[in-house]
Amino acid sequence: MDDRQRRAWAALGIGPAWLLRDPSARAEADGVASGEAEATPTSGPLSEPTTEPISEPISEPISESPMVIARSPGPGVRRDTAIAGLSWPALSEAVSGCRACGLCEGRRNTVFGTGPNPARWMLVGEAPGQQEDLSGEPFVGAAGQLLDQMLRAIGVDRAGETFIANVLKCRPPGNRDPRPEEVACCEPYLLRQVELLQPRLIVVMGRFAAQSLLRTDATVGSLRGRVHAWRAGDREVPLVVTYHPAYLLRNLPDKAKAWADLRLARRTFDALG
Ligand code: SF4
Repeated sequence: MDDRQRRAWAALGIGPAWLLRDPSARAEADGVASGEAEATPTSGPLSEPTTEPISEPISEPISESPMVIARSPGPGVRRDTAIAGLSWPALSEAVSGCRACGLCEGRRNTVFGTGPNPARWMLVGEAPGQQEDLSGEPFVGAAGQLLDQMLRAIGVDRAGETFIANVLKCRPPGNRDPRPEEVACCEPYLLRQVELLQPRLIVVMGRFAAQSLLRTDATVGSLRGRVHAWRAGDREVPLVVTYHPAYLLRNLPDKAKAWADLRLARRTFDALG
């Protein structure tokens, strides 16, 4: 290990003891905020890009008022089709006024996401927590600080080149798991964000975000360690799955796997030229 790697490991809080551990000797946990155990062992070595499930194509633009779309797109117009036609300001306004699912009842703020537009990197988490709900920004507090360290460790500038968003824009009460109908209701906003931001690479953090974007029930453990191809409109974007920082705060051993995932993301991004 050279000095740069040692500094990166130190930034992630991974001690030298990790070099001596055999990852196959223990079961792997899933990367979700709830800390649910995972029975499936880690997949093989970091590998070549694959063609994994692709998101649905995003539809033709139409002109709609954002507040109308937040409630009802009008007769004959599907809500997801209406969202797929919004400009960035209209999308932001639509989210801030959205009352399309029950999560609007308990929120203090919607959390649209932060970062440059367009963005070279896009990070996608699950849902706002208490501090995010209060601040209106994603990944603040301890999980956000860990995420900042992880990004710095692979040479990524969070503020300058990374847009960070969640699948859900409103906080589930008590930080409970998102419900499928809530994910389905909110997901069109994320899909439109990806299409407008045109990221070169997407990093997905945690089970719900990975399952939502990849249209799968598979665990983080079985999805991480490889590059997925994800379609946004007519573009194919490399996508890497890793653990959620909030999960890593409670499951320190899996930081080593998250570090491997981020190195894979960095290598993949650099290979894009
Ligand atoms: S979680 Fe999403 S769909 Fe539900 S109210 Fe908030 S913004 Fe709307």
